[in-house]
Amino acid sequence: MTTKMLKFVSVPQKQPDKRAATARRTDFDEIYKDFATPEATEQASRCSQCGVPFCSVHCPLGNNIPDWLMLTAQGRLEEAYGVSSATNTFPEICGRICPQDRLCEGNCVIEPGFESVTIGAVERYITDTAFEKGWVKPVSPVLERSQSVAIIGAGPAGLAAADQLRAQGYKVHVYDRYDRVGGLLVYGIPGFKLEKHIVARRHQLLEEGGVVFHLGQGIGDGEGELSFADLRSRHDVVLIATGVYKSREIGGPGVGLAGIEKALDYLTASNRRSLGDTLPPEAQALDAAGKNVVVLGGGDTAMDCVRTAIRQGAKSVKCVYRRDKANMPGSAREVKNAEEEGVQFEWLAAPEAFLGEGHVSAVRAVRMKLGLPDATGRQSVEPLEGSSFTLDADLVIKALGFDPEPLPQLWGQKDLAVSRWGTLKVGQKDFMTSLPGVFAAGDIVRGASLVVWAIRDGRDAAACMHTWIQENIMATAKAEQG
Ligand code: FAD
Repeated sequence: MTTKMLKFVSVPQKQPDKRAATARRTDFDEIYKDFATPEATEQASRCSQCGVPFCSVHCPLGNNIPDWLMLTAQGRLEEAYGVSSATNTFPEICGRICPQDRLCEGNCVIEPGFESVTIGAVERYITDTAFEKGWVKPVSPVLERSQSVAIIGAGPAGLAAADQLRAQGYKVHVYDRYDRVGGLLVYGIPGFKLEKHIVARRHQLLEEGGVVFHLGQGIGDGEGELSFADLRSRHDVVLIATGVYKSREIGGPGVGLAGIEKALDYLTASNRRSLGDTLPPEAQALDAAGKNVVVLGGGDTAMDCVRTAIRQGAKSVKCVYRRDKANMPGSAREVKNAEEEGVQFEWLAAPEAFLGEGHVSAVRAVRMKLGLPDATGRQSVEPLEGSSFTLDADLVIKALGFDPEPLPQLWGQKDLAVSRWGTLKVGQKDFMTSLPGVFAAGDIVRGASLVVWAIRDGRDAAACMHTWIQENIMATAKAEQG
């Protein structure tokens, strides 16, 4: 069947409709509506099928985007799903939360003059349709192998690896200290970007495919945890996919006042509330209702905090970021969504001190100006003398980034090598840490990054683990047999 592509010349770009900001402010449901079939078909047919598809080149997974766009335009959706899922374990998740404006869509060659193809929305449409039609099936290995693999961490890196290793027939055991599968997909990222049932159905599929989950089981030397040494002795190989969870801190007078909270504690409490969980007493106060909220930071985590505070019914929500809008690390699309929902931004501003008696009541901030680029190429920032101003604040949320937890110390594994940033060192080609048979993937190797990179790393690490098992464990067993 032939379908005319290249319709970008006559068909304007259309993203799926967004719910009105007034409605969005009152719930945690996703904000984008679904594409109807005619819209998805028409938008997919805008692709120019260019010779060198920069959308694929700039996709960390190397997705064959022009191919599944053409199949969608032709109404061959089951094939489109086949192509899309061949390179991506969770396309419906990437379709929702990848920063497409910086990756595939940002590199679409029709962009100058015409707006890019709506790749993320079509990807989401294809996979949601595949789920509806029952085309998404649990993995079904063609042979069962006797070797067993332990994966520490049920975030996107661990889950992508679990899927690939189970498909190879290994016994796959995933351990996570949380009570649900998904890592930051469930407890970090809010429902208005990714509804939780989307992750839960993947959990179910993996279980149906034979992956065994040990939830609420931390690895470490704490109470109720399983030691890393014990875990290693129970399995043939181990993958560490534990993410990065140590919040970056801020200094300054008054920083120890009550009401100054870590972003992830705040977001986890909100996500748990939406999931209907009973919060422990210390988490119950993590609620913005009726409060003046100040969020410090300019990345995706800060955007998730400000938008959560709006939905909780905050009196006012301000985001304080030391650079300007153009230099913000967060996705431009998310900043726009936040502005529509009523968040006020204090660009080029940094906190100087936190004021209050026992509990924070205000943040004193200072205006900043952009200076010359530093060694990394980013413009430095410096305070403008005499420009201090005060913002009312009953809740201050620190969204300043994350560093890795010190795993070698926590797990009593002094030979587990880390970089100077504390991330795990792995071989560039084999994903193996300094401990033989122990691999690592995702944020714990890369530092705080993106879901799409975690999926890529999980898939690549799984392939390396398979090779290592074949070359070491299987080869040794064969040699011993004579
Ligand atoms: P994680 O998702 O962090 O999963 C690690 C898992 O390991 C967790 O389940 C944890 O409980 C478990 N674990 C840790 N230590 C142990 C232990 N000792 N024992 C047992 N289990 C353990 N990326 C995007 O692409 N788009 C976005 O919109 C986006 N928004 C984000 C918003 C927020 C608030 C945050 C914090 C991050 C966001 N990211 C986003 C980044 C993205 O979520 C991460 O890059 C990605 O989840 C990393 O995957 P991972 O599997 O390496 O780690």
